[in-house]
Amino acid sequence: MKAAVCYEVKKPLIVEEIDLDPPGQGEVKVRLAATAICHSDLHFITGDMTSKLPGLPGHECSGYVEELGEGVTSVKPGDHVVMAPVSGGCGHCVNCMLGFRNLCQDRRPSQPHHHTKKGEDIAPMAGPVGGLGEYTVVNQYQLAKIPDDMPMDRAALLGCAVITGFGAVINRAQVKPFQSVAVLGCGGVGVNALQGAAFSGAHPIIAVDILDSKLETSRTFGATDTVNSAKVDDPVQAVKDITDGRGVDYAFIMVPSIEAVRQGSSMLGPRGMEVVVGITRGDLSSFTAGEFIGEKTLTGSMMGSTRLQLDVPRYVALYKAGRLKLDELITGRYSLEQVNEAIESSKSGEALRNVIVF
Ligand SMILES: [Zn+2]
Ligand SMILES: [Zn+2]
Repeated sequence: MKAAVCYEVKKPLIVEEIDLDPPGQGEVKVRLAATAICHSDLHFITGDMTSKLPGLPGHECSGYVEELGEGVTSVKPGDHVVMAPVSGGCGHCVNCMLGFRNLCQDRRPSQPHHHTKKGEDIAPMAGPVGGLGEYTVVNQYQLAKIPDDMPMDRAALLGCAVITGFGAVINRAQVKPFQSVAVLGCGGVGVNALQGAAFSGAHPIIAVDILDSKLETSRTFGATDTVNSAKVDDPVQAVKDITDGRGVDYAFIMVPSIEAVRQGSSMLGPRGMEVVVGITRGDLSSFTAGEFIGEKTLTGSMMGSTRLQLDVPRYVALYKAGRLKLDELITGRYSLEQVNEAIESSKSGEALRNVIVF
């Protein structure tokens, strides 16, 4: 099978023939249909996040079930599936029983399945999924079955961008009608938080970004107001002005920087909640205990607190009913051979999602 392997960070991926082991106990072999390039992939490829090398990026995927390992009951060969870097949960660990299936404790580290022709292990860079190849092997709980008539390029977006952004709003924060929302960083995940906020009945919904083009797009995903944080003197004041001086009930942070976390926190009104969605590294020690006296909450969201097998079919239904925008999320479509082109375009910040179509 062909795959796009990362041998060295900051270097183009190498598209080459590799070997794949058959699925083991509880595992499923999937033939890839589409894989979207996510910013987490870029973090691995550029070395911002460390991963074993050689590695195989790609974790926002759709595909067809090809072969079942022993004990798999949730899918059958030929099923159309969305594949995600989060487990839908084993159903019997404490976290699953409490209802937090995205935090399932049964994240069995499966053996490496991908190998170079020289016999060297290739590590999937997130998930583990390994979506930038013609086939992969994943845990059965990483799959959500979807209807056969769902377009597979758009289905791929349900593997990360949609569940992470929309899910942070509806599952983690549980935003209610007339609550105010700010989204800092309006890329592929951010615009999904905006459409989640619109779906929840939030108002106002404030998009914050440094690119006017992204703010313009944000309005089509439900933003009612926009703030260009690179152009206004004080982005925090700009958000407060939109909320009659009170500040927002929720700030969702998609930008991988502590400065954004700080800024989002200052935008909150009394009892506001800040949800850090993007992967952010750095030192939070600039926060003081006094800031939390107003009962503000600072929390994270693991893949939109998604219940994979429950939420993905719901998003498919919303898309079919015209209430979830997926067509508008795809900026470009590429073949696996063009993967480095797709990555360069994603790095520029102008693309929402570039999708590799197999
Ligand atoms: Zn992702
Ligand atoms: Zn579990």
